[in-house]
Amino acid sequence: MAGWAIAAWLLSRTHVPSLELPPVEAGSLLPPEALARIETFRDTGRWLWLASAAIELGVLALLASRARPLARLARRLGRGRIRSGALLGLGAATCVWVATLPVSGANHWWRRRYGLSDQGIGGWLRDEALSLVVLAFVVALAVAGAVWLAGRLGRRWWIAGSAAAATLGVAVALAQPVAIEPLFHRLTPLADRALAADVEELGRRLGVAVGRVEVADASRRTTAANARVIGIGPSRTVVLHDTLLDGRFQRGEVLSVVAHELAHVARAHVWKAVAWFALLAVPSLLAIAIVTERRGGLRDPALVPLALLVAFACFLATLPVQNAVSRRYEAEADWLALTATRDPEAATALARRLAATGLIDPTPPAWARVLLGTHPTVLERVGMAEAFASR
Ligand SMILES: [Zn+2]
Repeated sequence: MAGWAIAAWLLSRTHVPSLELPPVEAGSLLPPEALARIETFRDTGRWLWLASAAIELGVLALLASRARPLARLARRLGRGRIRSGALLGLGAATCVWVATLPVSGANHWWRRRYGLSDQGIGGWLRDEALSLVVLAFVVALAVAGAVWLAGRLGRRWWIAGSAAAATLGVAVALAQPVAIEPLFHRLTPLADRALAADVEELGRRLGVAVGRVEVADASRRTTAANARVIGIGPSRTVVLHDTLLDGRFQRGEVLSVVAHELAHVARAHVWKAVAWFALLAVPSLLAIAIVTERRGGLRDPALVPLALLVAFACFLATLPVQNAVSRRYEAEADWLALTATRDPEAATALARRLAATGLIDPTPPAWARVLLGTHPTVLERVGMAEAFASR
């Protein structure tokens, strides 16, 4: 536990000077009509998220309570403990997907209504199905591994399981740019030579080898602009969504985004996210081991739905920690980006335009910030830019 705590402490350290953020009013960034529209849009979105989480918990609880007959069926189909467990994992992931599909559909309709998406129902359904395939594959692999380890190691399987989860986390992060991302986006190398040269220059200032910079055809799904760093080591890729490069954003704003992403690279945030996944897997797997041990241990594949229920409950319970860590990393990337671009006006304009085009709520309610707030608020980001400017 001491080792765990030290690792968590080391991982949560960031290098941002202690800043007195000046208060920023939402009304100074966007007109009242725009703010009201964003609030209505986000309010419903949050309720849909809560509904989806509640349905997932309910479905997993229902499956856990009907596990015996389901396990008999899986054993007939799977022939063997591990394959039966994997089948039950696949089945549970599919049941959750089907049960939450109406909520996902409502969310898609809502996003279309607000102009955030113009994707048709066919494309949306294809994306949902692809997400299910990827998730079900990972779940089946994880479940098969856990049932196998529990059979071999007994009640202490969760220790080896945590090491295996860390390996799985590294594998997924490594595979994302080559195996997962291309399922959802077509990636093409950044063609804009002038922008590519500026990206190189920002990389030099931040001391990172830029590597691959790809443009994703996100406009097929959404009008919201975004950029991400995915992959680790040899697969590391900076992905710019084409919605960022369609002319709505000024050059300085685009460079602020790029600097922010390169700052994630400079501070190894993807590696750290994988490390957090491995770290949070330890108490989660321990909880699964304790709960399933009372019913005979996870070597029995009939306990797979219960294990998935505990896993999802642990995921929800640790969301506040995951988001708090994410906000720290995002704030660090924002600060480092400011030191690289030295352009706080562009950072402020970017925060405002991202809020206006992506319908981001500058003043989310406290509970939404705890459960869903992966980034500092728009007001905090503008405040940081102003604090940088006054320095
Ligand atoms: Zn970021």
